[in-house]
Amino acid sequence: MAPIKVTKICCIGAGYVGGPTCAVIAVKCPHIKVTIVDLNQSRIDAWNSPDFKLPIYEPGLENVVREARGRNLFFSTNVDAAIEEADLIFVSVNTPTKKSGVGAGSAADLNYVELATRRIATVANSSKIVVEKSTVPCRTAESMRTILEANSKPNCRFDILSNPEFLAEGTAITDLFNPDRVLIGSLQTPEGLSACNSLSAVYANWVPQERILTVGLWSSELSKLAANAMLAQRISSINALSAICEATGANIDEVAHAIGYDSRVGPKFLKASVGFGGSCFQKDILNLVYLSESCHLPEVAAYWRQVVEMNEYQKRRFSKRVVDTLFNTITGKRIAVLGFAFKADTGDTRESAAITLIKDFHSERALVNIYDPQVEHNQIWSDLADAIPQTPVDSIKKQVTICSSALEACKDAEAVVIATEWKEFREIDWEAVYAGMNKPAFVFDGRLLIDADKLRKIGFKVTTIGRAEVA
Ligand code: NAD
Repeated sequence: MAPIKVTKICCIGAGYVGGPTCAVIAVKCPHIKVTIVDLNQSRIDAWNSPDFKLPIYEPGLENVVREARGRNLFFSTNVDAAIEEADLIFVSVNTPTKKSGVGAGSAADLNYVELATRRIATVANSSKIVVEKSTVPCRTAESMRTILEANSKPNCRFDILSNPEFLAEGTAITDLFNPDRVLIGSLQTPEGLSACNSLSAVYANWVPQERILTVGLWSSELSKLAANAMLAQRISSINALSAICEATGANIDEVAHAIGYDSRVGPKFLKASVGFGGSCFQKDILNLVYLSESCHLPEVAAYWRQVVEMNEYQKRRFSKRVVDTLFNTITGKRIAVLGFAFKADTGDTRESAAITLIKDFHSERALVNIYDPQVEHNQIWSDLADAIPQTPVDSIKKQVTICSSALEACKDAEAVVIATEWKEFREIDWEAVYAGMNKPAFVFDGRLLIDADKLRKIGFKVTTIGRAEVA
């Protein structure tokens, strides 16, 4: 079968994945019309804003949108029109962990995927290639196919592909321009392979052929969960070792360096920290846990669940270290938390470790000053309201203040806690910070970001992840 030549793409979901991914396709494929749609009007308004105040912060994204918007890149709430004209439709909607009902706490909530799929079936008047871009449980494509086929019009055929996204927030644009690999899963039928070739031809506009991997549908779906589980497992492994370092006097940086030299292990993703965050790692491992349980593999489920439990332990351990070091009480003490995003170079706060730390400090009745260079204040209040339930925001505000600079946040504080590895925290005028703090002045580095010896020379008492000393 000759593959369809893709000339119009629709992406359902204008979030952290759909927006950057399809904006990059538009830049690299000026001959393809790309329309990114969302039901969220304010998100689409932001993507279309005349001064490019985009709904997400991502280095390099503004330039990409500036280049293609209005040329062959469009953002719209008219979902139906974009579906109808497209040859290929990405489904890039959110797939959060279910909060209630069957599988609550581990299963993926596929409601948004199903609603988008039903919309495609209802609206489409011609054949379409439908691509799962969202991270989904293994065999979701089968459910999508059943829904599409049961609701399609005569002469409409739907070929379903899996094309999971491997970008990392904070480096999304460079990841998309130069991906380690693009993975496309399809049924191994003539129609499935033909659809796979159509999508592969889109990526071939800038991705070298040897980096476009084509596999079976279920392998592709599972590979995304597996990739995130393996990455998170690496972090939990190094964090587990950091606890042993703190107890024994070994230094986690030295240990990571030594083990990373083994070419079978490799040096990347071996940085100890206060714990991983973000919308994906925990959700995708829990998804794998649920899948394992559904396959009657309880030992496998327990194995992966431990990765998440280790991460929770690491956050709790860090909060406790702060309290222990500040003479076993932080009641009424001011603590500056630097960073609220789950990692540097993003404004995304989903599952951020900072939220857990602030919640712990709040419950110990500390006064908390927060500073983050990118996260909107409204987002911080909304996250804290979710994290500290049954406490009105006005009451949270009696203990928590959002500051507009690191220096302001540290003023009159007893301790500074680095929760996000923003580069600007390394470059703060630490002498000025020290001068403005109560003494003794403590720094807790949850990201192995700062030069601890330099700060000690200024007079700080510094505690870092994975090292025993407090001097
Ligand atoms: P997001 O919440 O930022 O964006 C999803 C968007 O989909 C929202 O704006 C929502 O309004 C929209 N939406 C939901 N249902 C819709 C519908 N029926 N019609 C139109 N719009 C609809 O989520 P995200 O971070 O972009 O993640 C999307 C998917 O990609 C998830 O499955 C996630 O696991 C996966 N993923 C995320 C990342 C990441 O770094 N964020 C990386 C790889 C994969």
